[in-house]
Amino acid sequence: MRKEIINTWNGEKVELNISSDGYCFCPVCGIKSDDKEWRPYDENGHPSYDICSCGFEYGFDDNGEPPYYKSWENYREKWLNGKIEQFFGKRITKNEKLEQLKNLEL
Ligand SMILES: [Zn+2]
Repeated sequence: MRKEIINTWNGEKVELNISSDGYCFCPVCGIKSDDKEWRPYDENGHPSYDICSCGFEYGFDDNGEPPYYKSWENYREKWLNGKIEQFFGKRITKNEKLEQLKNLEL
């Protein structure tokens, strides 16, 4: 596990977790990307507008300005507690979510 720091276009800093084999974890739900090149934001912090299986859209749910009022944390809390209508990927239990979140070493 290593960290990648992005200095965003709006003067903030965000931290991404990268697996030991080089894949980025979703900073909201901790799921491992299946594309080694994938990042939720580019090197200038501009969002990808990708939607994760947790439902978070980078560039929308963060208002295009990560970390935007703890948008990751707030969304994560709702996702964990089943308050997000997930339409992407398979539904997972709270325990599976907690397990997945270990990837973020919060
Ligand atoms: Zn996610």
